[in-house]
Amino acid sequence: MSVRPTTTTDAGIAAPSDDHSQSVGPNGPLLLQDHYLIQKMAHFNRERVPERVVHAKGGGAFGTLEITEDVSQFTRAGLFQKGARTESLVRFSSVAGELGSADAGRDPRGFSMKFYTDEGNYDLVGNNTPVFFIRDPQKFSDFIHSQKRRADNHLRDNNMQWDFWTLTPESAHQVSLLMTDRGTPASWRHMNGYGSHTFLWYNAAGEKFWVKYHFKSDQGIKNFTAAEADAQDPDVHIRDLYTAIQRGDHPSWTVQVQVMPFEDAADYRFNPFDLTKVWPHADYEPITIGTWTLNRNPENYFAQIEQAAFEPANLVPGIGASPDKMLQGRLFSYPDAHRYRIGANYLHLPVNAPKNPVHSYNFDGAMAYRNPTDPVYSPNSVNGPAADPELWKGDSYDVAGEIVRSAYALHSEDDDFGQARTLWEKVLSDTDRDNMVGNILGHATAPEVSPEMKPRVVEYWRNVQKDLGDRVAQGLGVNGS
Ligand code: NDP
Repeated sequence: MSVRPTTTTDAGIAAPSDDHSQSVGPNGPLLLQDHYLIQKMAHFNRERVPERVVHAKGGGAFGTLEITEDVSQFTRAGLFQKGARTESLVRFSSVAGELGSADAGRDPRGFSMKFYTDEGNYDLVGNNTPVFFIRDPQKFSDFIHSQKRRADNHLRDNNMQWDFWTLTPESAHQVSLLMTDRGTPASWRHMNGYGSHTFLWYNAAGEKFWVKYHFKSDQGIKNFTAAEADAQDPDVHIRDLYTAIQRGDHPSWTVQVQVMPFEDAADYRFNPFDLTKVWPHADYEPITIGTWTLNRNPENYFAQIEQAAFEPANLVPGIGASPDKMLQGRLFSYPDAHRYRIGANYLHLPVNAPKNPVHSYNFDGAMAYRNPTDPVYSPNSVNGPAADPELWKGDSYDVAGEIVRSAYALHSEDDDFGQARTLWEKVLSDTDRDNMVGNILGHATAPEVSPEMKPRVVEYWRNVQKDLGDRVAQGLGVNGS
């Protein structure tokens, strides 16, 4: 028979009772000196950290990235060298719902990865779609507000969503993908992940390339129809991933990159840094570089998933940022969110801490665990850590221009609707199209969607593709063409 450990206070002192508070006689009042009771009640009041404003509901697991091809001509990053195996963490999530919201609702899915490399942590904070709703971070908080809850009645409101989307035509490509059945994936195992942004890669000689990442599900793509999604258990995706890994059914993804020669970017037919656009595969063929497998469940959800902190600014030597304006905004906003939500020393927590040694001159602050020894300043004459700019040779490019507030300069084929039209005309099957129209109508016929909004919804979809718009018009009972 196993011996039960003795309950303790959080200071490791044997607890006086699991059942009874200290009182003056069995029926008398409780005592302030009952530190154990007070510690329990006070800690309970502090159990929650603020939930994420976006991507609040999610789940995750640990895994391994294995690189099988030689891409050293494109990047010096150790984790992408042939034969490298790197431990990693992923957190999948929905976007707009709160912590207790249903997993299967129509939403993009977050696909955030952390790679614990020998050169520090590399984070790739992606989604299950290759594009996004907006292309300038100036609009981000407004966009999210439109997807969450109204100020007056605290309800989500499809009218508000269509108001934002129809006034923001750059959203059309992402809204199209969202309204296909990929907007309701059957599980996190059955969806692709995309780095979405364009990143800079540079090799050991400092030669530069632009890249996009694709993680293709080896389980295949599987989606719910709208009716199936509505019928699911609210925790269907967390449960699916956890139980699959628990039974040894380890999901994997084939890792691919599209590589664009650095010089192509200037006059490529689409702005390659516009987050509302893909690079058509025929222009830059995806190259398989390895496999990524999830093989370990978290042992403690709060410690390892709720407190997991991903940040696109974690870029290791060999990988840099691009001028994608949305990426530039996220480089700031993610670490800022973690400092607010978890605290200044969120990188000291085991799940966020790198596996390689840290030699930083940042120290102290709430909950400091990994504090440096002297010297505590740089430059110093006592052999303290010193930067190695050689590692970053290549992480640079020319930028010049007047300071402005402006949309991106258009490339020859840039517009708001063309790639969404290609999706409808060239990629979707008849069933996909029928379901997409049904999904749009399901969303735009919610009782709160006003009669004035419906013609705007029709015009939005006619701009994507005339037949699609006509079908939406018919379904909404809106005349004219
Ligand atoms: P391709 O014909 O070479 O590729 C189309 C891609 O679309 C497929 O490879 C697949 O990407 C994705 N796809 C397939 N079925 C669906 C579906 N039912 N719903 C959503 N996506 C699907 O064409 P292009 O590369 O020229 O792209 C054409 C259009 O395809 C784009 O405008 C975009 O809307 C969409 N697309 C393109 C991607 C890209 O990176 N080029 C990625 C995803 C979508 P995957 O294997 O990644 O699932």
